[in-house]
Amino acid sequence: MAILIKNGTIVTASEEYKSDVLIDGEKIVAIGTGLDSRAETIIDAAGKYLFPGGIDAHSHFDLPFMGTNTAGFDTTPAAIVGGTTSVIDFTPQPAGMSLQDSIAKHREEAIEGKTAVDYSLHSMVMDTSVPGLFDEFGPLVKAGIPTIKLFLAYKGTPFNVDDATLYSALEAAKDVGMLAMTHAENGDIVSLLQQKLIAAGKTEPRYHAESRPPIVEAEATARAASLAKAADAPIFIVHVSCEDAMLAIRTARQQGVDIFGETCPQYLVLDVDYLAKPGFEGAKYVCSPALRDKSNQDPLWRALDNGWLQTVGSDHCGFNFKGQKEMGREQFTGIPNGTPGVENRLAILYTYGVMTGKLSLQRMVDAFATAPAKFFGMYPRKGSIIVGGDADIVVFDPAYEGKISVATSLHGVDYSAYEGFDEKGRADKVFLRGTLVADGGKFVGQLGQGKFIKRQPFGLAYQSRMSR
Ligand SMILES: [Zn+2]
Repeated sequence: MAILIKNGTIVTASEEYKSDVLIDGEKIVAIGTGLDSRAETIIDAAGKYLFPGGIDAHSHFDLPFMGTNTAGFDTTPAAIVGGTTSVIDFTPQPAGMSLQDSIAKHREEAIEGKTAVDYSLHSMVMDTSVPGLFDEFGPLVKAGIPTIKLFLAYKGTPFNVDDATLYSALEAAKDVGMLAMTHAENGDIVSLLQQKLIAAGKTEPRYHAESRPPIVEAEATARAASLAKAADAPIFIVHVSCEDAMLAIRTARQQGVDIFGETCPQYLVLDVDYLAKPGFEGAKYVCSPALRDKSNQDPLWRALDNGWLQTVGSDHCGFNFKGQKEMGREQFTGIPNGTPGVENRLAILYTYGVMTGKLSLQRMVDAFATAPAKFFGMYPRKGSIIVGGDADIVVFDPAYEGKISVATSLHGVDYSAYEGFDEKGRADKVFLRGTLVADGGKFVGQLGQGKFIKRQPFGLAYQSRMSR
């Protein structure tokens, strides 16, 4: 059943032009005009943009963390209505389990039959006592999992790894086309500062930011860059939250290190003052790295617009305020870290980036879809509007005006981190592999429709870097 999306303006990471798009089955089969006779269904997209379906390479669905669990894949319709058709979720490694078994377990228990979005998984190194951990990188890449995450933060938990582990992982990763991703914060210093603050009776949510100031992130980012240089391996820094960490990446890249970075909507529009909201409301905004002084926001937008940071991921963590964030009422170190946002990525980028002139439409599409597809091995099947590619398409209505609210959110969480924020434009229709899955802002797909995406080894990112 062929569908023609007519009269829209196609926006890719490099182009903006009026053309029609013909979908047959799951694929885009033609882009051009005069295609009407080949279509059974015609959708008029006059006045609308056509964006490639978003790729959120940073989600945490059904993650056991800090004694509780995030919302599961049955809440992925939130991604769809927000214009995101694929996610790459982080897979925790349970104690004693191999990386491959951890991936199989997460797929089986948390995802298959439940997900509304297409998905892949990043592997995560947590229990380094499991023998042969790094020998698993080759088989993982072959199985379509070419990314591994290591945390320099969260000392005293299974997430934290030391420098030697990161270095060894980088060495093992580069030979097999695995890309190492790092949460860069100095876990030792964070832990020390936490103890000092708690001992001084400083227990409220706002001290979360004081316990992890920009310097702990900038230091760990620069250190990760040095280790990548020493190992002669590429590295990807997730959730860059402040100017100093961004500059560490830019400087290292100028010096020839293959280092890349992501930022997140929360660091672009929320600031440290949210943590000081009265009552215990600041807990809603506890995420790591912490929210920063507002003066960091423009440098991050500039970094995105100039390609010094390449992608935007949501770092989506669906914790409720009631019963979950509240676990840290006694002291901020007990508050589960993370904010919900998989639904809001496009809205924040368009409303606060494109509409304010901080971000070009092309750079937005790149950071939202194309660059993640390239870095994480899904391009050109996903991440652009290309003949032969999957028909993952967002029909975006720039005339829509609304507000972000928990009342209309599909996150399945009892609050929104962006409550009351303006939303200019929205995903009016969303197609996932040729099937209409959102219409008029409503989810019209099925849970279980999402498929596993077998990803390619790291490498295309080099091409994308060279083309700048
Ligand atoms: Zn994360």
